[in-house]
Amino acid sequence: MSKYWSPIVSRLKPYVPGEQPRMANLVKLNTNESPYGPSQSALEAIRMAAGADLRLYPDPLALGLRQSIAERHGVMAEEVFVGNGSDEVLAHAFAALLKHDQPLLYPDISYSFYPTYAGLFGIDAVEVPLNDAFRIDIADYRRPSGAIILPNPNAPTGIGLPLAEIERLVAEHPEQPVVIDEAYIDFGGESAIPLVPKYANLLVVQTFSKSRALAGLRVGFAIGQRPLIEALERVKDSFNSYPLGRAAQAGATAAIKDEAWFEETRARIIATRAELTRELEKRGFEVLPSLANFVFARHPGHPGQTLAAKLRERAVIVRHFAKPRIEDFLRITIGTNEECGRLIAALDEIL
Ligand SMILES: *Cc1c(COP(=O)(O)O)cnc(C)c1O
Repeated sequence: MSKYWSPIVSRLKPYVPGEQPRMANLVKLNTNESPYGPSQSALEAIRMAAGADLRLYPDPLALGLRQSIAERHGVMAEEVFVGNGSDEVLAHAFAALLKHDQPLLYPDISYSFYPTYAGLFGIDAVEVPLNDAFRIDIADYRRPSGAIILPNPNAPTGIGLPLAEIERLVAEHPEQPVVIDEAYIDFGGESAIPLVPKYANLLVVQTFSKSRALAGLRVGFAIGQRPLIEALERVKDSFNSYPLGRAAQAGATAAIKDEAWFEETRARIIATRAELTRELEKRGFEVLPSLANFVFARHPGHPGQTLAAKLRERAVIVRHFAKPRIEDFLRITIGTNEECGRLIAALDEIL
């Protein structure tokens, strides 16, 4: 606290990202990064961008990247908005689209950046409880609201909604913007992007951080009809006209064109997820059905906090949330087969 702070600063509850510890021989399964490197062509494009042109500002419209994303997803470049990680895209969506007289709705167990952004932008929000199976029931969203945001698949549960359910939610709320945060969609879910031409209220947000293995580059995007995208552009150009540098634009453009690496790595992660789920279940864990690059699991005989601490002693880092209903769960990122093997070996010692 300081007398120099703007009044809002003392009221903020900043998001706490998963830690990035520097330990030798660490098995890092806490922040849903890809265990496989980025596309080689993306790395090459980033190296090429590191030249004398860096003295020049980047394209403020990021047209090349937006065009490539548009082609990949069958929309127009004008229907694509890009930002410095999907966290920034989400922040602009909160400011541009999600603040209304009626409350914003999102699940009670969900991405913990949502309450943070609601606080930052002074948005009145209502948390809608997941049902007893930790699932989103879209019937629970039939209540007065100004806007809705939810991740599909949800985080940290990993549970996905079928596209028909997403469409029903979007169709049932024609007066409200509905934002679907698809950070994990490429690991088995079905994207809502094909619904964009049909629904003026739908905004779909995706990221290069997970399935494209570029968390360090900071690139995310949103797809929606022009009026929603224009709202994001108005906020962006009132905040930072150049959110993506030259290296980020070049690297992400090359990454989205590398379909082969994308398919190979996500298939490996999906296969390892099935294997890890089986191994955890054999040891008595309850594992929620995941469509993401992580699993959410609890053991009836061991509190989550203790398990996380004991894994840490063995240089295996997973994510634990000290929150009601989920305090006994661990969120475990799908690593390589070798990393998941080391997790299982550590669990065998602990259990
Ligand atoms: C990881 C994640 C994001 C954002 O990631 P960026 O690295 O900022 O693109 C957004 N939503 C959810 C639910 C996530 O888990």
